[in-house]
Amino acid sequence: MSFRVAIVGRPNVGKSTLFNRLAGRKMAIVDDTPGVTRDRREAAAHLGDLDFAVIDTAGLEEAAPKALESRMRQQTEKAVRDASVALFLIDARAGVTPLDRHFAGWLRATGKPVVLVANKCEGRAGQEGLAEAYGLGLGDPVPVSAEHGEGLSDLFDALRAHAPASDESEDATVEDGDEGEKPLQLAIIGRPNVGKSTLINRLLGEERMLTGPEAGITRDAIAIEWQWQGAPIRLIDTAGMRRKANVVEKIEYMSVGETLRAVRFADVVVLVLDGEMMLEKQDLALARMVVEEGRALVIGVNKWDAVKDKKQAVQKLSDRLESSLAQIRGIPIVVFSATTGQGVDKLMPAVMKTSKIWNTRVSTGALNRWLTPIVEDHPPPLNKGRRIKIRYMTQVKARPPTFAIFASQPTAMPESYLRYLVSGLRQRFGLEGVPIRMIMKAQKNPYVESDD
Ligand code: GDP
Ligand code: GDP
Repeated sequence: MSFRVAIVGRPNVGKSTLFNRLAGRKMAIVDDTPGVTRDRREAAAHLGDLDFAVIDTAGLEEAAPKALESRMRQQTEKAVRDASVALFLIDARAGVTPLDRHFAGWLRATGKPVVLVANKCEGRAGQEGLAEAYGLGLGDPVPVSAEHGEGLSDLFDALRAHAPASDESEDATVEDGDEGEKPLQLAIIGRPNVGKSTLINRLLGEERMLTGPEAGITRDAIAIEWQWQGAPIRLIDTAGMRRKANVVEKIEYMSVGETLRAVRFADVVVLVLDGEMMLEKQDLALARMVVEEGRALVIGVNKWDAVKDKKQAVQKLSDRLESSLAQIRGIPIVVFSATTGQGVDKLMPAVMKTSKIWNTRVSTGALNRWLTPIVEDHPPPLNKGRRIKIRYMTQVKARPPTFAIFASQPTAMPESYLRYLVSGLRQRFGLEGVPIRMIMKAQKNPYVESDD
């Protein structure tokens, strides 16, 4: 296999866990004791449409006897030398340690392409460490949770930028800025029988998939390469939560996992609802999952032909969304009938529009020109008698738009003030309808490069 990815980092950051996750098998030993992985392990790995060899390396263990330490170091050096790209892991919960900085310096010196990965970022954990990671000078860190399988889609994006183009010579690489050719990953999800398969057939304009009143026809997620007005799209159809009559609980449970995996690989997710039975508990749970995963959400209301009081239905839908997904204003809603085709032509324009917003990058200059006056107008509150001061703000990544705020007393910043900033950001920069993430960062970074 020509594309080789070496996982490196100090002990206990989660290298073996990530290795297992990528290899899809329990191959390396995972243990709480630092330095448990003594040797390099290699396996065939698969992420999105990338096939590669993944190499797990021993962390540099401080406590190891000298001879063992140097052997492990040699192994790691060889692994990196032979690799196409190094995945450099840090533990975002522990923050950036001196050993991490040592590794970072060494990696930079090798000249290998490096993807910086901040592990243990599940939920809202690790935000501080993630922010510190920017100071390592290895580009934007990719937040993941190896243990929970979160952030793999961003990891895939980062790796793909270094992978050889599949139909070209081996040494040709896809450049970072070359996103135009990358297909938009579009997942269609929803409860059983809402009409996902019918919709996909309608979009594709041909009977690619079986549809019918019987739930449970599609078992697994299917990826379909497609084009919409010249734009490459990878459509991911999911089995959703199909529930055959008398189906055992377990199968439904597995299908939820399938939906979650599809969501994690998607850029944009269309959540299909049945216009006659809208926003049931499962619908809302799915919508929340999409938002929590940071994907761009479009709500597709199907079977519109069968809805009697259309006005009331729209009102009810937007009320429910407002109260249950209050953190995101303006989630696009498209109503259609997959069987008659009416309104389906509005779906893809909505998808493309929200995808563009999801990919927005705002320059630091523009952000701070906006920020300064609104913070003056409405300053953050006092904390223990001292005012929280916001220094500046910068966008650390897109997909979804993620911003770091540098402030005094960053941990004391109240949620309500962050909501005020988010809502202002949405208005000023047109970031409607997509998740926005904020990272609070101490204004002085104790881990600056120069003290290395
Ligand atoms: P290695 O020494 O770098 O190979 O680290 P391991 O893969 O052995 O993981 C070290 C410890 O971190 C183990 O207890 C893992 O369960 C834990 N760990 C790994 N990944 C994650 C994660 O994403 N989140 C959390 N909370 N713990 C993790
Ligand atoms: P899936 O389980 O979400 O893939 O749903 P299917 O595409 O298999 O559709 C389930 C049922 O809903 C089928 O009987 C379809 O004919 C019906 N259906 C799908 N779209 C529409 C629609 O726009 N209007 C009406 N009235 N029925 C529809």
